Amino acid sequence: MKVLKFGGTSMADAASVSRVADIVQSENANRFVIVSAPGKRRPSDVKVTDMLYACHKARLVRDDVSQEFAAVAERFSAIADSLSLRGVNGFDLDGELENIKSNIDGGADADYVASRGEYLSAYILAAYLDRPFVDAKKIIRFDSEGNFDEKTTFGLCRAVLDAKVGAVIPGFYGACENGAVKTFTRGGSDVSGAIVAGAMNAKIYENYTDVDGFMSCDPRIVRNPKVIDVISYRELRELSYMGADVLHPESIFPVRSRDIPIRIKNTFRPEAKGTLIVPTEKLLCGEYKRKNLPLTGIAGKRGFLSVQVEKSMMNNEKGFARRLLSVLEEYDLSLEHMPSGIDTLSVVIDKHGVEKSRIDGMLMKVKSLLRPDRLEVIDDVALIAVVGHGMNRRKGMMSAITSALYKADVNIRMIDQGSSELNIIIAVENADYEKAVTALYEMSLELETK
Ligand code: ASP
Repeated sequence: MKVLKFGGTSMADAASVSRVADIVQSENANRFVIVSAPGKRRPSDVKVTDMLYACHKARLVRDDVSQEFAAVAERFSAIADSLSLRGVNGFDLDGELENIKSNIDGGADADYVASRGEYLSAYILAAYLDRPFVDAKKIIRFDSEGNFDEKTTFGLCRAVLDAKVGAVIPGFYGACENGAVKTFTRGGSDVSGAIVAGAMNAKIYENYTDVDGFMSCDPRIVRNPKVIDVISYRELRELSYMGADVLHPESIFPVRSRDIPIRIKNTFRPEAKGTLIVPTEKLLCGEYKRKNLPLTGIAGKRGFLSVQVEKSMMNNEKGFARRLLSVLEEYDLSLEHMPSGIDTLSVVIDKHGVEKSRIDGMLMKVKSLLRPDRLEVIDDVALIAVVGHGMNRRKGMMSAITSALYKADVNIRMIDQGSSELNIIIAVENADYEKAVTALYEMSLELETK
């Protein structure tokens, strides 16, 4: 059994939805289908989910949101009309739209309103495919604290879905114990797909999007980076954490713990192989074949702060690192990396979403508590992760990295190699970020041909 999930661009208009239908029907195998709300049809377009959030926001300040809602209704009506669904037995889009509108008028909350994009998307696809529609509210459950409740959800999935093989299910939301709709964070249909795959013990979770797979480098920086054919869950996690995004980060957990692989595929080029994401141990023991490349991918992010604390005889001062970390904890700052020397200790902090006052407070406290001889703050650091199981015990990796950066005239501010040799983190100045990523990507291509 497979679970197929289709993202927003795959559901954006009637032509895309009919491609989706072709893919779903291309094999006879059992499958469950999870869908997102219609996304952008062109770069300047607005996603239905954003239109729905805007509708809810407008309702908070005025009674009449007919105009906002009409734009949403128009997107779904256009799809249903082009697919000639009007008149299909039991299909009542107008009735569904009316019901949603009256709930919005009645003050429905943001989660309910936003979730209606996925609800209607699945409602339409189920009718078009003539397959059962299962409301995610019936199978995905959150506990009283609003956390995803895996045990109850898995029980519900099995109880409901066993009798509804082939069902089309809306992504992005579920329900609380009291029945109120609750959404995951944005992009959460990926999570819904992974949950159904985990609960139903799928052979594979196929995640359809609008790119050929997981890229080995950021396509906004290097031209046509290669698509990774096979990647382990751990490599994926490292690359996603550093900004490479195709999948919602939480979507790997329900499938990874059950050894279910994920395949990223392109709805618009289903013949492309895509990227297969597989359990780390299975990749390492050779169960999945892939080219023996030293590097799997490169990803990075700007906007980090590096604080270097220097104090002579620091190594004799017990509890120094603990006290430094306690200051970060006090100011609620999360530690990314901590390279150290005999008399120096550095901490690299993610600045995204952190107010300047918290950083200033932390620095003052470090000075007063630790009395360093020197405190150097580098405020504009970018981190680049070079990731791949192939680096393990391979000689010359570090030298290839440093000479590529040297040739590109990039100054390395810090290097941190994890003990598993899965990941080498390089810090460079923000201004050098793109140059450094390009140089490292080119270096990886050279290593490949050697
Ligand atoms: N429609 C939701 C969003 O735009 C969820 C999803 O597409 O996965 O975030």
